Amino acid sequence: MVGRLADQGLTHPAVLQAFDRVERHRFVDSALAAQAYEDTSLPIGWGQTISKPSVVGRMLGLLCAGRSLPLGRVLEIGTGCGYQAALLSHLCREVYSMERLRALHERARENLRPLRIPNIHLIFGDGMPGFAQGGPYDGIIAAAGGEDIPPAWLEQLAPGARLVAPAELQPGRQSLVVVERTPHGLQRQVLEGVRFVPLKSGVA
Ligand code: SAH
Repeated sequence: MVGRLADQGLTHPAVLQAFDRVERHRFVDSALAAQAYEDTSLPIGWGQTISKPSVVGRMLGLLCAGRSLPLGRVLEIGTGCGYQAALLSHLCREVYSMERLRALHERARENLRPLRIPNIHLIFGDGMPGFAQGGPYDGIIAAAGGEDIPPAWLEQLAPGARLVAPAELQPGRQSLVVVERTPHGLQRQVLEGVRFVPLKSGVA
């Protein structure tokens, strides 16, 4: 899988190394384990999906490009099965990962337990307001997209920090958005079209 990601243009050595270190099959149902190393999104239950590796790699590459690693604190919105949180644990000092569905939050905890990763903090809660207690963050990454980037996330970006998230800035068209807090203020780039599950408020 790592070789394929590199062939597809993922060049960041630390991101590739993180993919090499985290076994994706541990995060999906055993019936799907045979497909775990293909470049496909897979169902993780409760109507949610684990994103395809190339998309996860693209986002992590954007988060890390040109920055010294490890990053400090990173906030992930949408823990899902915990796979991306495990990747992030190799790229930053502390991962704060929020999930609004209790069943998935617990599933992620179970998936991660045998890996004994000390720097992941799983939080059950709505990620729309971010998680100010853990911030400010050097990076924020979301695996679910709303109509715009929630203002709280922007407020929780430290100087020099970067956010990578999908947002439906035009009706029916979700795009990858990168926002950086520069000395001249927030700079936003809108990149290619993507398809993530919806960002929802409240918990369930
Ligand atoms: N990074 C995950 C991808 C999970 S899919 C992985 O590696 O598996 C996106 C997740 O975002 C879903 O589990 C969904 O429940 C969650 N989500 C959607 N809106 C949310 C919100 N407001 N706060 C926290 N999690 C949210």
